[in-house]
Amino acid sequence: MVQLWYRNATCHIIGGLFLIGEDMVSKYCQSCKGTDNLKANSKQTLKDGTQKTYYLCRDCNTVLKRRYRKTQHGKAVTYGAIRRSQERTRNKVRARRMVMHHIQNGNIRKPDNCSRCPNENVEAHHEDYSYALDVIWLCRRCHADLHAKVGKLHKTAI
Ligand SMILES: [Zn+2]
Ligand SMILES: [Zn+2]
Ligand SMILES: [Zn+2]
Repeated sequence: MVQLWYRNATCHIIGGLFLIGEDMVSKYCQSCKGTDNLKANSKQTLKDGTQKTYYLCRDCNTVLKRRYRKTQHGKAVTYGAIRRSQERTRNKVRARRMVMHHIQNGNIRKPDNCSRCPNENVEAHHEDYSYALDVIWLCRRCHADLHAKVGKLHKTAI
């Protein structure tokens, strides 16, 4: 008979045999062995090529993540993320300032119309803030459209 701890497992009946889906059996928290609020935590490819997903429950995940952040490696990763985000902000500010400066100097002419539609009142869109003068001129609507597609890159008009 099917044992109690298999009760969450999917059973396939093939030729009268119960075959238990292995991935279902291993669906419990790696830390506390609980089965509630599981989050897929990591995927590993076993030697025979099959993929195994490890799970952590929400609470253990929080605890382990907090503990990881205190380790040498965790600190380095966190620090790297902060530094990258600061660098992005710096590039953004710099790019915006440069565009503004060049518009005032007359080196860059702000076009009258959006590059995608006939609308006026264009805003500068940067694909990449590290290329400060690489801007695409878009009206507010096209700009918002683009951001809805590519994600939130910046909040302001330039
Ligand atoms: Zn747990
Ligand atoms: Zn437009
Ligand atoms: Zn933009």
